[in-house]
Amino acid sequence: MEPKMSDDADVLIVGAGAVGLTLAVDLQRRGVKFRIIDAASQGFEGSRAKAVQPRTLEVFDDLGVSSRAACSTRHWASISDRCPSVAR
Ligand SMILES: Cc1cc2nc3c(=O)[nH]c(=O)nc-3n(C[C@H](O)[C@H](O)[C@H](O)COP(=O)(O)OP(=O)(O)OC[C@H]3O[C@@H](n4cnc5c(N)ncnc54)[C@H](O)[C@@H]3O)c2cc1C
Repeated sequence: MEPKMSDDADVLIVGAGAVGLTLAVDLQRRGVKFRIIDAASQGFEGSRAKAVQPRTLEVFDDLGVSSRAACSTRHWASISDRCPSVAR
């Protein structure tokens, strides 16, 4: 069955990647009705995040999830860890 387009959404988010999903979270907490669509039939199964950018942490702070995000990460070795001449 074809999905029906809801016409009661105030915002249409195109793309359920990091940006679209974060916007969805922010709209949800503000009580704004949205619909999110994506060209892909399923989410990306790999990982594209080995480091969190400072701006991302600011957004996490604003959303109130920075502590939870920090607690659910693990240290990823810096590439310089592989260099024998780098002093540690
Ligand atoms: C190899 C790699 C490593 C990375 N490592 C890091 C990292 O360590 N730290 C970091 O902060 N960032 C990292 N990034 C960058 C990070 O992945 C991107 O900044 C982030 O994914 C961008 O989010 P986005 O929502 O804009 O795009 P995407 O995550 O690409 O999501 C876009 C979504 O829109 C959908 N879409 C596209 N066109 C359409 C359309 N016409 N109609 C409907 N849906 C559509 C796609 O299917 C996709 O689901 C990395 C990226 C790569 C490729």
